[in-house]
Amino acid sequence: MSILNTSNENFDVIVVGGGHAGCEAAITTARQGLSTALFTLNLDRIAWQPCNPAVGGPAKSQLVHEVDALGGVIGKLADSTAVQKRILNASRGPAVRALRMQTDKRLYSRKMLELLQNTPNLSLREAMVTDLEIDVKSPSNLSNLNPENTEIGCIRGIKTYFGSNYFAKAVILTTGTFLGGKIWIGNQSMPAGRAGEQAAEGLTEALHKLGFQIDRLKTGTPARVDRRSIDLESLEEQPSDAIDRFFSFDPDSWNCGEQISCHITRTTAATHQLIKDNLHLTPIYGGFINSKGPRYCPSIEDKIVRFADKESHQIFLEPEGRNTPEIYVQGFSTGLPERLQLNLLQTLPGLQNCVMLRPAYAVEYDYLPATQLLPSLQTKKIKGLFCAGQLNGTTGYEEAAAQGLVAGINAAQLINDKKEVEFSREESYIGTMIDDLISKDLREPYRVLTSRSEYRLVLRGDNADRRLTPLGYELGLIDKRRWEIYQAKLKALESEKNRLEHQRIKSNDPIALEIERDTCAPIKDSITLANLLRRPGMHAEDLVRYKLMDNSLPVAVKEGAEIDIKYSGYLKRQQSQINQLKRQSKRLLPEKLNYNDITTLSREAREKLNECRPQSLGHAAQLPGVSQADLNALLVWLKIQSLKTVKNQNMKKPKLKSEDQMSTNSWR
Ligand SMILES: Cc1cc2nc3c(=O)[nH]c(=O)nc-3n(C[C@H](O)[C@H](O)[C@H](O)COP(=O)(O)OP(=O)(O)OC[C@H]3O[C@@H](n4cnc5c(N)ncnc54)[C@H](O)[C@@H]3O)c2cc1C
Repeated sequence: MSILNTSNENFDVIVVGGGHAGCEAAITTARQGLSTALFTLNLDRIAWQPCNPAVGGPAKSQLVHEVDALGGVIGKLADSTAVQKRILNASRGPAVRALRMQTDKRLYSRKMLELLQNTPNLSLREAMVTDLEIDVKSPSNLSNLNPENTEIGCIRGIKTYFGSNYFAKAVILTTGTFLGGKIWIGNQSMPAGRAGEQAAEGLTEALHKLGFQIDRLKTGTPARVDRRSIDLESLEEQPSDAIDRFFSFDPDSWNCGEQISCHITRTTAATHQLIKDNLHLTPIYGGFINSKGPRYCPSIEDKIVRFADKESHQIFLEPEGRNTPEIYVQGFSTGLPERLQLNLLQTLPGLQNCVMLRPAYAVEYDYLPATQLLPSLQTKKIKGLFCAGQLNGTTGYEEAAAQGLVAGINAAQLINDKKEVEFSREESYIGTMIDDLISKDLREPYRVLTSRSEYRLVLRGDNADRRLTPLGYELGLIDKRRWEIYQAKLKALESEKNRLEHQRIKSNDPIALEIERDTCAPIKDSITLANLLRRPGMHAEDLVRYKLMDNSLPVAVKEGAEIDIKYSGYLKRQQSQINQLKRQSKRLLPEKLNYNDITTLSREAREKLNECRPQSLGHAAQLPGVSQADLNALLVWLKIQSLKTVKNQNMKKPKLKSEDQMSTNSWR
């Protein structure tokens, strides 16, 4: 008699990973009625935030609104666990304005676990998944590693470390920083997915065997210090400034619990000196590792080396929750050895006597370059195998959650024999991110940025529901109650916009006189409230102040009406810029151009353009790190150069006839 050590559990969908991508993916498929199992290494670390427990920020907040608009959960959880909320870029336009919430890390994780446990059709399993079960079309395809990325088989299930098999029609891998994970402090390392958690074994080899390309990236996190050992009184306080703001369009998750302030300190000459003296002891500068880390979350030593002329850098002290003294030292991640880290922290004003609870560390991990995926996030090689989150080369909870949702939606579509759902760049940051991931060879951790979108005036947080909730409803992810909330908002918004377009105030009205006095802008005869709102510096809150708008309207209606009315002109301009870029894609770029001379380009774009030297504007558009904003800047620069050349020629030559003049203006 043989003893079988295999389980024969069958599911529709298996999700590997209980991080931000895995949770969204599993909830999405379960809500669509599919039996789903989520496997994770440690059920007590569900949706863990190993870095800063903050959700949102520029472009990331738009992603969170989008996930919520489609029925995802990250926004609701952030809303219900926020300990500090701020509006970033408040004085700038709504395209770049962003909500950022510091959440209670442990509460966030606990609430996500409860949500998973109470979601029908969803089972949780604690285990390490080490292999994939595949039905291979032809075994010979496996041996040549199939560089063409064509389909070689379909998924059947997974195997765990202790030998159990589980079967499913779709498998979604969301393994985060755990595949081949190795953490580093100074020149010391140990295998781990993140501090205190084992690395995942087996899956990298399984993916390799199937011919997938796997590469390595790294990320890092700063030290945590004990709040009680910091002289907070001596530091600048940063209180919440957005208590009435939320990520979710569903008021049911809104919670305005007690808010906690953050504090600000700065690096000093002593900080910089200590780092310069010990740079060789860090894993990157000491040459112990060479994988790329996130460009937009540099370590403190990177900042000091790259911006050598800067005397000081701002450091934020952020609480990790209401019931913990742990403070996250934002902007201060380091690869210095543990023995130097306390000395380094104590160079910061207010932290002279601080107690370090956890040291800063870096983690190196395997990722699967997402050029091997379809827009549905299904792998090109294995039907039914999807990948999402940090595994695809992204960084951030929001990016992971959004991909988890997309993978979940498409796994369900596949199983239900329905067409995959593709998100376009025009309609969402989700689409922008996926398009960037699958079409560009990124080679460094990817995070969303507003500058990555050519449609950023359209892709705002306030209208994410108008862009995506109908799709969420169609997919069954938005229930009837949410749909009614959405319909009511639309109705209120349209009615308010209509009122603003039609209601006029006359120049002799006492309010008009008051507005003239306050703004020094005359009102001739009469003006509609919409045209008043279109004036620079005039906002919905001003109309409320002049009693021209009902203050009891929901914030979303007041602000939504303002943005729609104010930005209609800009939207047309944005579209014409996009059209112009498309028309100019074949335009050749000068061979000897030094991109460092074009200061309107981002630093990343200058670096990539100098390195790759694209032939045309179209080629430049394909490069990772070159955003639409950079392409616009390049186009403007070329136009200026072309005008300068024409001007110089005109100065040298006798006067041209008007037709000749037209033809020299060749950039059009
Ligand atoms: C040290 C550190 C620093 C970071 N710094 C930043 C930063 O500065 N900025 C930023 O935006 N983001 C940062 N991040 C990244 C952020 O944590 C991730 O982007 C985000 O958590 C990714 O979500 P995910 O769901 O893809 O993966 P994770 O949240 O990592 O979740 C992965 C899940 O998969 C499970 N798992 C893995 N392998 C297996 C397996 N074989 N079998 C079963 N379960 C498995 C794990 O148990 C875990 O639950 C940092 C992460 C770390 C670890």
